[in-house]
Order: sequence, then C-alpha cells, then structure tokens
Amino acid sequence: MKDFSNYCLKSLNTFKIDVNADRFISFDNLDEFILFATENKDIFNQKFIVTGEGSNLLFTCDYDGTVIHPEIKSFGILHETDNHYVVQSEAGLKWDNFVEETLKLQAFGLENLSLIPGTVGASVVQNIGAYGVEVGDFVDNVKYLCLEEFVIKTISGDECQFSYRNSIFKNELKNKAIVVAVDFFLNKIPECNTNYADIKACVSDIADVTPMFIRKAVIDIRNKKLPDPDIIGNAGSFFKNPVIVKDQFDELLLKFPDLRYYDLHNGNYKIAAGWLIDVCGLKGFEHKGAAVHENQALVLINKSGKAQGKDIKELADIILKKVKDKFGLALEPEVIIL
Ligand SMILES: Cc1cc2nc3c(=O)[nH]c(=O)nc-3n(C[C@H](O)[C@H](O)[C@H](O)COP(=O)(O)OP(=O)(O)OC[C@H]3O[C@@H](n4cnc5c(N)ncnc54)[C@H](O)[C@@H]3O)c2cc1C
Repeated sequence: MKDFSNYCLKSLNTFKIDVNADRFISFDNLDEFILFATENKDIFNQKFIVTGEGSNLLFTCDYDGTVIHPEIKSFGILHETDNHYVVQSEAGLKWDNFVEETLKLQAFGLENLSLIPGTVGASVVQNIGAYGVEVGDFVDNVKYLCLEEFVIKTISGDECQFSYRNSIFKNELKNKAIVVAVDFFLNKIPECNTNYADIKACVSDIADVTPMFIRKAVIDIRNKKLPDPDIIGNAGSFFKNPVIVKDQFDELLLKFPDLRYYDLHNGNYKIAAGWLIDVCGLKGFEHKGAAVHENQALVLINKSGKAQGKDIKELADIILKKVKDKFGLALEPEVIIL
C-alpha cells in the first residue's frame, strides 16, 4: 500500500492535467486495504474519490481530498456451464487487457468494447459502451467494499441498474462503495455483434467473422477516429448524446433535416452530440490551449499539452452555450468535472 501527501496526478488522468491531491492512497492487497480502511474510517467522512486511469475525469484545480487508487489486478475463470464462462477480474486491471485475456480464454462478448481506456472497476460504474454493446449486458455480479459497514458486498448485474453511462454506483451507492471485483458472464459460442455501421463495413467481405476479428476491427476503427490519450490529452466523448421525446424530435427534424439521431424505439430519440457541435462550426475551435478535436467534435483535447482543467471547462461551457442557442438542447457532460 502507498499513502502519500501532496501527490501529483498528472500521470493519473488522461487529460494530463498537472494537479496535486492532498492525499493519495493506492493498494495492491485487498485484505490489507480493508484493514486500513476500517481503522481509518474518517477518510470516507471527508472528501475522497476512487480513481482508475482518470480517463473520464477533468480536474479543474488541485484535489483537496483523498484519492483512492485500487491496483488489484488478478483475473481468471471462476466456473463454467455448457455454454458460458463466469470470468472474474479485480477492479484495478486495465480494461483492454482484460478484454484481450477473455478472448484468449475463448470467453466471448466483450470484443466490441476493445480499446476503451480505463479499469475494470470503473467499467461498471460508467456502464461503458461502444459499437452497439454495453458492459452491463455481461455483468453477472459486482463485489464492492461497503464504506458504511466496511465489508465486501455483492450485487447482481440486475441490481446495478445499468443505463446509458450510468449505474447504481453513480447514484444510490455514490461515495458508499469501492468496486473491488466484477464477475462477467461470457459466451463459449461466439455471437458476433456486427450491427454497428462501422463494423458492418469492415466485415462485409468476411465469410467467417470471429470475435478476434471484431476486436481487431474495433481497434483499427478507434485508432483512426480517436486521439490517443498517450499522445494528446483527452477523455473520449466529453458530452453525452442528448435523449429527447418525439414531439421535441419532430420539431428539431423540421428545422434541421440533416439531424443525426438514433431511434431508441421507445418514443425517445438519441441525438448525436458530435453532430450538434460540428454544425455550430466548432470543429477545431481552440480556447487557451484546449480545443475541439478536428475529426471528432465530441472529443475535447489538451492541444497545447499545457491547458489547465479550467481552460477545458471554459471550452466546454462555450460549446454548451452555442448548442443551446442553436438547437435549444442542453448538453450534459459525460466527463466527471472535479
Ligand atoms: C480516448 C478515450 C476513448 C473513450 N472511449 C469510450 C467509449 O467508447 N465508451 C465509453 O463508455 N467510455 C469511453 N471513454 C471514457 C472512459 O474510458 C471510461 O469512462 C472508463 O470506464 C473510465 O475508466 P477509469 O478507470 O479511467 O475511471 P476514472 O476516470 O478514474 O473514474 C471514472 C468514474 O468511476 C469511478 N471509479 C473508478 N474506479 C472505481 C472503483 N474501483 N470503485 C468505485 N468507483 C470507481 C470514479 O470515481 C469516477 O466516478 C473513453 C475515454 C478516452 C480517454
């Protein structure tokens, strides 16, 4: 276990913002950490945050609290049935390493979620999703350290209340739980999901599409489309795609016939936030070293490498205002602003 004061977080957030945390605690032994947490309950009565790779965080100033950083990383098959494996991973394992390992084990389902940055623990907090798949579809159960009773509790995938980039860990269990491990229910027989247009285009000539092929296609698509946070600071999509009801959608479509949207088939429509930002003429727009990515308007970047968190936040506010003025829609950040 590590326990440091005034700890630099620059390498622990993908925007590469140079801020310090008052206190930083990381652990690679769960039993040791539970004992420590039980003897130091005060930490959890004050300001704290659990972080993985910081790939969905924007620090706008030094963090005047405690950062808890799980570094427990084991994984393996727990049990199997005729058609399924239950594979468990501890929270600190890098998500994409886990996806790769599951495919090596011939345990299928997570391939569309390849190359998403971050950790296994955060994947369920965020209910990460890409190319027609959400992690919640494969979660058997989640084990977390309960910060009220300081014991490990288990909740089922259904109890996690997964929805679009949302889960119980962002609501009822916010600041009450540290995810320590996740059990995934994965297929022995591949069921490749190629519905998403980009993937469909990649596999159109292939007779026998395998999950490994999908993984490779997803990695290629993502590498072409998204800036690599190791090279240019970013946190992926900065805003969520707004979801609106049919009346509002009909009105908008009348004004903007090119509108990009997905019919959710429940009376609601998801509008492509990147398209809204693009139509406002903001692709490539720069503000104090921060910028809207030139190819992906939904991604804000630390272009100069020296932008501060508050500069990126100001850029986000400019975008919010322009989109609101033009479309009457209030974008909501996907990134957690601290
Ligand atoms: C280039 C790029 C592309 C991306 N593409 C996608 C994408 O396609 N789809 C998608 O869904 N996301 C995407 N993201 C966002 C990001 O990868 C995910 O949100 C990811 O799950 C964050 O993981 P993390 O470990 O970095 O979590 P952090 O950013 O450190 O934390 C995120 C949240 O989870 C909480 N948390 C983290 N670990 C724990 C834990 N063990 N217990 C309790 N709470 C915890 C934190 O407190 C915080 O609220 C992208 C990001 C980048 C930089």
